[in-house]
Amino acid sequence: MDQRVVECVPNFSEGRDKAKIKQITDAIEAVAGVTLLDVDPGADTNRTVVTFVGDPHAVAEGAFQAIAKAAQVIDMTQHHGAHPRMGATDVCPFVPISGVTMEECAAIARRVGDRVGRELAIPVYLYEAAASRPERRNLAAIRKGEYEGLAEKLRDADWKPDFGPARINPRAGATVIGAREFLIAYNVTLNTRDKALATDIAFELRERGRVARAATGSAYYAKGRILTYQDGAYPCGNCEFVGRTFAETAAHCRGVHAYDVAELLRLNDVDPTKPLVGQKVYRAGKFSHCKAIGWYVDEYKRAQISINLTNYKVTPPHMVLEEARRLAAERGLVVTGSEVVGLIPYPALREAGRYYLQAQGKSSFVPIPDILQTAIFSMGLADIAPFDLAKKVLGLPHEFPKSLVRMMVREFTDEVSRDTPAPGGGSVAALAGALGAALASMVANLWQDKVESAAAASELVEAAKIAQKVKDELVLAVDEDTNAFNTYMEARRLPAGTAAEKAAREQQMQEGLKAAVRVPYQTALAAYQGMQAAWTVVRHGNVSSITDGAVGAQTAYAGIRGGIWNVLINLKDIADRNFVDEMRHKCDSLLQEARTLSEQVTTHVDARLAELIEGKKC
Ligand SMILES: [Zn+2]
Repeated sequence: MDQRVVECVPNFSEGRDKAKIKQITDAIEAVAGVTLLDVDPGADTNRTVVTFVGDPHAVAEGAFQAIAKAAQVIDMTQHHGAHPRMGATDVCPFVPISGVTMEECAAIARRVGDRVGRELAIPVYLYEAAASRPERRNLAAIRKGEYEGLAEKLRDADWKPDFGPARINPRAGATVIGAREFLIAYNVTLNTRDKALATDIAFELRERGRVARAATGSAYYAKGRILTYQDGAYPCGNCEFVGRTFAETAAHCRGVHAYDVAELLRLNDVDPTKPLVGQKVYRAGKFSHCKAIGWYVDEYKRAQISINLTNYKVTPPHMVLEEARRLAAERGLVVTGSEVVGLIPYPALREAGRYYLQAQGKSSFVPIPDILQTAIFSMGLADIAPFDLAKKVLGLPHEFPKSLVRMMVREFTDEVSRDTPAPGGGSVAALAGALGAALASMVANLWQDKVESAAAASELVEAAKIAQKVKDELVLAVDEDTNAFNTYMEARRLPAGTAAEKAAREQQMQEGLKAAVRVPYQTALAAYQGMQAAWTVVRHGNVSSITDGAVGAQTAYAGIRGGIWNVLINLKDIADRNFVDEMRHKCDSLLQEARTLSEQVTTHVDARLAELIEGKKC
């Protein structure tokens, strides 16, 4: 039987204050059985998309705790951001992943909505598969008017909330809760700052299309005269056809363009059953299950087409991207890349990789990592931020290497050799330390039950114990060092527009640097313990293993040296003088001890080897 897994993707109206975001995610993680998968804050939208999974019961509890915490820490009367929103927890969908039906997810939405309304006094609207009536299925329809129009909306009997009081909760606003299919939030980045250019392409792509206009010959559609329905003349918005009746035009649209024009009008808030003369004509977009708008992102200094794909099996992201590239080229624009906000299901990325391999005339039956890498390169997914498969892809096959330490020696050395700054010296120093400790453990374990002296045997047992412990720590540090570096890089990407943003960015960068210092310092300390164990085995192990112990000591020394060097390079940028002085002092004394020990090991081993050679001569 499938494991029962529900995904929950709440959006919170806070994208700048990391401490507040952490309070909310801490409330989620405090629930047993829940795994936090992704936290994606946006400074410009001032909004954070959180993704977590678990069994249905745990996910329902996690969602409620998060909504309760958001209501405490977010004040909607102070909120501004470049994304439509109406509440502190703006929207909270439950998504069936495995072993759970859509109806079960709708039931979870109703249960959580009821509790939020009763216990937190927040108005709740149910949407999509959990909607209480057809006109509430659509999120945009519920959110129309946003937070600022909410008080008035709640006075309208048609917009009585499904749960909770029919009056505004000023700090928390209102929350939309529901059940839906997996949604891919996908942004296509353009080589312009002009939001209008992105919007023009977005309107061509999205299902609801745009107001139809007379042809002008310009690629910029918005320049044409707006078309309206006239008595006896019902233009098709997608070609030159004009029907004598609406029914005739509807038949044309179905037959020639394969869309339902009545549904298109409904998507644009026009009732097709009412008289249509004088009504604007709409032009259908290219893709169903596709919502899109244009926006400008100050963080990237770029305009983006911001896309929501509500059924990637029907409308996959790579097909939308290819159409966006074509439309951009017509307009003299360039798509520089694209980004996945939150997560993408593994099959969506795999199909994209296969599509591009086939387009290149290559076999698409190649190892999965190669297929996924092709998708990342072809879609430009690492254009504005690194794309980490382990963090971005949901349902990655288990055997896929998720961390450096799962790689083979060959893969790891290849990875180090590539022109990316991480993994670098820090990870290699940790690995060196781990190998040094491993050799010490090997010699200790080989000889601890064979040496004559009981004291020596007990020293070897202790050396094996310590060497095993630090070896495991150092193996973890291979990945930690790379991750510590990533934390600093993330802080560097924070906005630096206003003085307050600059100060916040600087503080995060300083925190990132201190973290980037602590990891290699721990590496150096652990490697030193490994080296001490190596010294023990050099003295007490059998002479036939003396060079194993010596290599262990030298490799561990490389780990210590490397760790200290990595501390020092990051210290130069840290402003906190006390921290810098303390770390320098600690590193100096550790290095002094390590040098002395290295000298001892070398002298001892060389002397023993010389004795052996001399002994043979005699
Ligand atoms: Zn037509």
